[in-house]
Amino acid sequence: MIAIDGPVASGKTTVGRELAARLGYRFVDTGLMYRALTLVALRRGIDPRDGAALGKLAEQTEISIVTGPGGAAAVHADGGDVTADLRTAEVEDAVSVVAQVPAVRHAMVAQQQRIAEGGNVVMVGRDIGTKVLPDAAKVFLTASPAERARRRHVELEEGGGAPSLEDVRESLALRDTLDSERAEGPLRVADGAVVVETDGLAVEAVVDAVVARIGA
Ligand code: C5P
Repeated sequence: MIAIDGPVASGKTTVGRELAARLGYRFVDTGLMYRALTLVALRRGIDPRDGAALGKLAEQTEISIVTGPGGAAAVHADGGDVTADLRTAEVEDAVSVVAQVPAVRHAMVAQQQRIAEGGNVVMVGRDIGTKVLPDAAKVFLTASPAERARRRHVELEEGGGAPSLEDVRESLALRDTLDSERAEGPLRVADGAVVVETDGLAVEAVVDAVVARIGA
């Protein structure tokens, strides 16, 4: 089992997917689960700060990630495929607030531990090495704020949205602060994690560095 954590746009998803393909492991992006729960909450009109209602919703909502050919993931929740709606501005703005709620985290961590049963999995997120899979080989990816904002901006432009680079930088900084400062499951470098700085490195080079350093 391999746990990869890191801040927004540090390269976790691209690197994790490529690493999983190389090793023949399953790939699980836990950010999609927090996004799916946030989407369901917004659809039901639940306030992202209503911890009690969100905790109950998290207990009741089974989220499944179905990986298709080439590693593309479809996310099912709330009785249907929600994949297309997980990267909207509404979800993006609310997800880190929803992810602060301890009862939400407990429910998500339990689901993620069940998904990882059986091993042979690369799981990416914020608290995978510290909380979800503490016995996994641990990797922490990072990059400078400027590089992460640039990458996220390119992604958003490709997706058809075009906020300014400055807006992207601010939204990343806000999400990083919320993710790092929450009491439950904050973003941290896990004990024993291999830290890889990805500025200026191509995906292949990051995967090579990870494989060499964890001995996968
Ligand atoms: O990784 P991604 O940017 O898609 O994650 C969206 C949000 O979900 C993060 O900003 C964070 O608030 C939350 N998250 C989390 N714990 C994880 C994965 C994601 O809190 N393991």
